[in-house]
Parts: sequence; structure tokens; C-alpha cells
Amino acid sequence: MAPSIPKTQTAAWLEKPQPGARFQIRDDIEVPMPGEGDVLVKLEYTGFCHSDVHSAYGETPMSTDIAGHEGVGHVVKLGANAPGELMDAKVGIRWQYSTCGSCEICDVNPTACPNQVNSGRNTRGTFQQYVVAPAKHVTRIPTDLKAEIAAPLLCAGLTLYSAIAKARLRPGDWLVIPGAGGGLGHIGVQIAARRGYKVIAIDSGESKRELCLKLGATSFLDFKKDAVEDEVKRLTNGFGAHATIVTAGTDAAYEQALKLIRNYGTLVCIGLPRTGAPLAISPFWLCVRSLTVVGSSVGTDAEMQELLQMAMKGEVVPQVAVYPFEEINTVMEKLVRYEVEGRVVLRIPQ
Ligand SMILES: [Zn+2]
Ligand SMILES: [Zn+2]
Repeated sequence: MAPSIPKTQTAAWLEKPQPGARFQIRDDIEVPMPGEGDVLVKLEYTGFCHSDVHSAYGETPMSTDIAGHEGVGHVVKLGANAPGELMDAKVGIRWQYSTCGSCEICDVNPTACPNQVNSGRNTRGTFQQYVVAPAKHVTRIPTDLKAEIAAPLLCAGLTLYSAIAKARLRPGDWLVIPGAGGGLGHIGVQIAARRGYKVIAIDSGESKRELCLKLGATSFLDFKKDAVEDEVKRLTNGFGAHATIVTAGTDAAYEQALKLIRNYGTLVCIGLPRTGAPLAISPFWLCVRSLTVVGSSVGTDAEMQELLQMAMKGEVVPQVAVYPFEEINTVMEKLVRYEVEGRVVLRIPQ
């Protein structure tokens, strides 16, 4: 018998995005009803991404009251005309809640669709027990993949997967990953190593060094002890790396990244700086050095499925730190202070 669906549910409510905002755990939030072509998903786990903090703190636009975009659960109800095979299916809800599918950008790469709806930005996200989503945009999750392992792949993993694809690398090429031991970086190290790229992992401390080398990095540089620019040059025949992916949202990270890549190299931008300061490079140097600078946001459905397959084979294993949903505010404070090891996942009350 299908489980009964309550009228109200528990959610982490955000009254208003603002600096220092806190979530209110409420149990009087209405359970949404799936409309035409939608499914209702009962969530089990949700990742807590750094961009949720930016949204909650009002640093990036947010026009809904429930954040979150790395949710995994099961379909418990179908809206009219939603495919029957989705009933009871294990699915994920991603940042790209929906795209229009009919514009000129969608034709090329829907991740940049100007008409996209984003989970936790302009529609209610995954910091709740039940979420409605369009059937054609939910992500099928392999049954054998643990929900708490799948959750961080939906945004963190996918973002790195797509960024690495945009780095224009050939096997044997050098890729620098600053923040390699962090929530995003450690997944990137695994994907890149599997692709046959030589990873220079940058982070600090003995535990991060061990982690990065264990996950497949060729070299580790400790930014607190090593002369990073000199060491990268030394490792790469004096030319610099073929590409770097900046995951940290700081101007300093971008400034340094440009010094770590070789001529004809690629800088992939995924970290969002708060200040909005421009990249510190003139068109003159872009031309003379023939650099490619590319921005990347999440990834496509096909990239998502490729990554999930890697995870199924054990080629990519996110390190997760699971917390009870009720500790969401403590977790946010830790995220703000970059105190979390691995990727934060919240266990949703069942
Ligand atoms: Zn995210
Ligand atoms: Zn579109």
C-alpha cells in the first residue's frame, strides 16, 4: 500500500534572505501537490551547498523561502500525465529545476538557459520533506547508490565534472585544483585522475595531503608552506599547467590561477566571488598568451548520468559529513567558517 501523504510537513523556512540569516524549522508547511507533468518526491537526504549560504545571506538573488538543491528521495505521487514508471523511483532534485527546452541556448547547452528555474533560488528547494518537480527534469538515481552519496554529486560533483570537461585536456596534461581537499575539490581530483590527467592538488595540512594523494593526485602543494607558483612551474617543465579550475570564490584565487597556467592554457571559473571584481587580466595578456577563460555552472543531464555511472563503479566516492536536519543552522555557521571536512549532507526526518 502506498504510504499516506500528510497535509503538512517539516521544512527549514527562511523568512527573508539577509546577512546572518537563520532557518526556522517549521512543521506547518503545506505539502505541495504535483501539477500536470510533475511528481511529488519524498526526500531522504539533501546536500548543503555553499551557494545556499550565499542565497540565504542575500549575497545572490533568492526569491523563495526554502533553499536547497541537492535532494535525493523517492517519488510518492504522480501528477497528471507524469510517466507511470517514475512512481517509487529514486530520484534527485538539482539546481536546474527546469529549463525551457525550446530556446536557442537550450539547443546548444541547457545549463545556460536564460529561462531556467532553480531549486532553492526561485522555486522551493530541498530543505523540506516533500518537493514537487517536473517529471522530465528529475534525475534518475541508480537504486544501488546510497542516497547520501548521490546527494553531493547533484551539484558539487556535477559542477566539477562539467568544469573538467571544459578544461580542454588530453591524458597526461597537468590540471591544477586549488582547494583540492574541499567539498568540491576532492571530487574533482577523483574525476580528473580517472580521466588520465595529472593533478596538482593545492590545499593545506597533512590530512588534506594524504586525502588528495590517495584520491589520485600526482602532486600536492601546501599553500601555507610551499611556493605554489614556483612549484607548479617546476613540475610542468617551466611552462605552467594546461588548465586550472577555480572553486574558491575569492579574487585572490583567480589572480593566482592566471599565474599557474601555461600559454594556450585554460582557466575554468566556477567559484563565485562576493565582490564582483573583474578578472585581473588585460585583453593584451589574453592575446599574447592565447589563454581561454571559461565560466561553468553545474552540468548537463548527460554529464550527470556519466558521473553517476562513475560513482556506481566506485571511481568517484564523495566524502560526506551527515548531520541531522535539525542542526541546519549550526551547519550553516560551520560552512560560513569553512570548518566542514568533505561535503555536508542533511538527513531529512522521515
Ligand atoms: Zn550547489
Ligand atoms: Zn531554454
